[in-house]
Amino acid sequence: SPSGSAGEGAHRSDLQHAALSRFAEVYAHDPQGLWSAPGRVNLIGEHTDYNDGFVFPFAINYRTVVALRSRDDQLVRVASAFAPGEVVEASLTDLEPANLHGWSAYPLGVVWALGQFGAPLGELRGVDLFIDSDVPVGAGLSSSAAIECAVAAALTDVWHLDFDRQTLAKVGQLAENKAVGAPTGIMDQSASMLGRPDHGVFLDCRSLDAEVIELGFDAADLELLVMDTRVSHSHATGGYAARRASCEAGAKAMDVSSLRDLSVHDLPRAEEVLDDETFRRVRHILTENQRVLDTVRTLREHGPTAIGELLDASHVSMRDDFEISVPELDLAVEVSRRAGAIGSRMTGGGFGGAAIALVPRARLAEVASAVTAAFAEASFTAPVIFPVTAAGGATRER
Ligand code: ADP
Ligand code: MG
Repeated sequence: SPSGSAGEGAHRSDLQHAALSRFAEVYAHDPQGLWSAPGRVNLIGEHTDYNDGFVFPFAINYRTVVALRSRDDQLVRVASAFAPGEVVEASLTDLEPANLHGWSAYPLGVVWALGQFGAPLGELRGVDLFIDSDVPVGAGLSSSAAIECAVAAALTDVWHLDFDRQTLAKVGQLAENKAVGAPTGIMDQSASMLGRPDHGVFLDCRSLDAEVIELGFDAADLELLVMDTRVSHSHATGGYAARRASCEAGAKAMDVSSLRDLSVHDLPRAEEVLDDETFRRVRHILTENQRVLDTVRTLREHGPTAIGELLDASHVSMRDDFEISVPELDLAVEVSRRAGAIGSRMTGGGFGGAAIALVPRARLAEVASAVTAAFAEASFTAPVIFPVTAAGGATRER
C-alpha cells in the first residue's frame, strides 16, 4: 500500500529490483530489460474524455514495472506479483479478445492490440514478461493504464515497432475496451504515456493534441493529497455505461455528433430541449470542459494557488448534476476543505474510489487527520491518504 514517506528514487529502484529477481525466479533466467509506466490522477476533467472533450490528468510517482526477455519461439508468457504462482501462456499467432480473461487480459490484450495497429505478430518472437506494481489497484489511479502502457512500451522497444506515444496510448485503450471489455476513454493511457515531472497533461480528446503544462505545486508549497475512500466502484460499470448513454442521448437531442460540439453558451438551449436529468448530465460535461480550460489558463496566469475554486466547482457538478459521487467522497471533500485544503474534488469515474485535495504543505497533516477522524465518526471504512507528485511517463528503466 502507498506510502508517501519513501523517496521516489529509492522506492522506484526497490520495485525494479523486486521485479528483476522475481522474473529470474519464475522463468529461471534473467530479463533483458525493464520498463515502467505510471498510474495517474486526474486533476480536472471528469467524464469529458468519451465526449471528445478536455481532460487534465498527471502521471504520478507510483508505477508498474515490466521485466522482459525475448524468446526463440512465438509464445508469450505473463506473470505478475499480483497472481503468485500463475504463469499465463498464449501464442502470438492466435490471440483473440474473447479468449482473454482476468488480469492477464491486460498484458495479452496489449499484444493483441499492437497487432491491430499493424505490428506483424506472425513474424515476431515471443516474450516472457513479469509485472510488478506499486500503483494501488481500484483506487482511481489507473493501475490498468499503468500495466497497459508499461507492456506497450516494453514490446515496442524489443520488437522495434515504429509507434509514437499517442499511438501507444490508443493501443492501451483498445486493449482495455476490447480485451478487458471496459468502455473507457483515452485519458488514462495518455497521461501514463506522456507525463512529465511537475507537469500535467492537457489533452484534447477529440484531436488527441496533448500539451504538458507546468503545475508548480512544489514551488508553491502545495501538496496534492489523494484520499482513497476504499469504497469499491461497485456500481461503476453500470453507472458509467448509463452516464455515457445519457451523454449520447443529450448530443443526439441537441443534434450534434458529440457534446464537444457544444459549449456553456449552449446551456439555455439545452435546458429547453432536454429532459431535466439529461440536461444536468449535459451541463456537467459542458461546464467541466470549461473548467479544464480555465484551470490551464489559471495555472499559466496565476499559478496553482488560484485553481482551488475550479476543483471545488468540479466536485459540486459531479455530485449534483452528474450524480456520480458517494457520501464517503463528499465527506472527504468537505472535511479536507474545512481543514485547510484550497480545493478538493472526487477524481476518477465515481461511485467510489478517491478524492483529491490541493493542500498547503503546512496543513497536510491536519487535513489528513481531520479526514481520517471524520470517517471514523461516520463509521466509514478508514480512508487511505497519501500525497502524490507529478512524474514522468512510460520509459525504459534499464
Ligand atoms: P484501476 O485502473 O482504477 O486501478 P481497474 O479495474 O481499471 O482499476 O484495473 C485494475 C485491474 O488491472 C486489476 O484488477 C488487474 O486485473 C489489472 N492489474 C493492474 N495492475 C496489475 C498488475 N501489476 N498485475 C496484474 N494485473 C494488474
Ligand atoms: Mg482502470
